[in-house]
Amino acid sequence: METIDARLLDHDEPVGAKPGGVRIARGPKGSNVRHQSTQRVSVPRYRAITERHFDRIPQLASLPSDDRFAMRVVSRVLPFRTNRYVIDELIDWSRVPDDPIYQLTFPQSGMLGENEFRRVADLVSRNALLDEATPVIQAIRDGLNPHPAGQRELNIPQEGGDPLAGIQHKYRETVLFFPSRGQTCHAYCTFCFRWAQFVGNSMKIYAKQTDGLHRYLAAHPEVTDLLITGGDPMIMRTSVLSRYLLPLLDSPETAHLESIRIGTKALTFWPHRFVNDDDADDLLRLLEKVVASGKHLAIMAHLNHWRELSTPVVRTAIRRLRDAGAVIRAQAPVLAHINDEAEVWQRLWQDEVHLGIVPYYMFVERDTGARRYFEVPLERTRQIYSDAISNVSGLARTVRGPSMSAGPGKVEVVGTQEIGGEKVFVLRFLQGRNPDWVGRPFFAQFDPEATWLNQLKPALGDRRFFFEDEYDAMRASAPR
Ligand SMILES: *Cc1c(COP(=O)(O)O)cnc(C)c1O
Ligand code: SF4
Repeated sequence: METIDARLLDHDEPVGAKPGGVRIARGPKGSNVRHQSTQRVSVPRYRAITERHFDRIPQLASLPSDDRFAMRVVSRVLPFRTNRYVIDELIDWSRVPDDPIYQLTFPQSGMLGENEFRRVADLVSRNALLDEATPVIQAIRDGLNPHPAGQRELNIPQEGGDPLAGIQHKYRETVLFFPSRGQTCHAYCTFCFRWAQFVGNSMKIYAKQTDGLHRYLAAHPEVTDLLITGGDPMIMRTSVLSRYLLPLLDSPETAHLESIRIGTKALTFWPHRFVNDDDADDLLRLLEKVVASGKHLAIMAHLNHWRELSTPVVRTAIRRLRDAGAVIRAQAPVLAHINDEAEVWQRLWQDEVHLGIVPYYMFVERDTGARRYFEVPLERTRQIYSDAISNVSGLARTVRGPSMSAGPGKVEVVGTQEIGGEKVFVLRFLQGRNPDWVGRPFFAQFDPEATWLNQLKPALGDRRFFFEDEYDAMRASAPR
């Protein structure tokens, strides 16, 4: 019978046992390839590293055994995935456990509540049978708000009474598309609302084909932006990605589409995707085609820490994407243990601007997954934002936030203020389920501990926030 540790005993895919082999690195597009080829550079081939491989990551061997045990425990509940580039080139192992990329990547005991941790630790120590362990683990996952902000109920459009697979449409101008082959990531960030889709099949929201998307876009001329997301669409081979992208370019039905955005972590967690992978050049040619079709191509990069921008290969990847005509925009949440200091954000935005990346969104850590470990009070997040923004040039002040992606919309914490003797948070919608809500300031009672919109109470004698009645009505009429 299968036990909770059965997967850990499966060592037939050891890390680094089959090295990617030595290949000749290709120069950046337009460079003198003959000149480049005199340098033989080892190019790592992509291999996922999962919780099966903890024992085979040499850097982990020097950690205290308690930490390694905690990793095994937490990875029973929350997903884990990384690769050699992150381990060898981004994490500074001399600074572990405080290193921000280590915190971003590897499971930590504080990601589960004490009781939950103890229960799973007991199952792992006893090597319990899956029959016993699975329901316990499932119950813990269910308690971590796996599907926040009503994304399953409220955002999925209908076609003839059936939900349209792989499409979400929350804000008027922008449709989200989830291609089935792009539903994994180069990191499984346990603060991300996508964590649930990496640990089970409970969130089948992806699309196998583009016909549904085409019909939907054709019927919705108000949609100017398509955001291809996941997971990470850049996980897909270029040939697969092109099957999604090319049909959007020349069809009259999608002529109203002005921008195509692709959300990705690959830029900094596997930059070889744009430089050395065997279909990297094809990818850049595909992106050039998107640009040549007259549509704006935006790479929406998840960038948590300036360290991610520090290697030569990521800089080459950025240059190649920009040469292809893409605009790279960056976004990330403020996270305890990773980037909850103004200096980190200041340098991140400065490095982004320097490299030609546009700072786009600063998010508040969402109410899901390992929030207990990563969350930062709204007041502190706001302080980090204002300290960092006041120290950068106007070119870096394109970033919006700090923003909560909540059920009713993206809500910015504009600041604090005293009005008629009452201390309040000033808030406003950057995006709203009803576009009329956007930009309108509203007020909540100041609360230095609050971490999310649902913990805030209306200020100045109001009983409800201005949007709440309408939002309740939207929820009541949503298909079940
Ligand atoms: C953030 C977001 C968008 C895009 O909003 P922009 O402000 O245009 O970047 C679209 N759909 C959903 C569901 C979002 O959360
Ligand atoms: S979508 Fe981005 S933030 Fe979320 S798990 Fe993937 S890489 Fe991490």
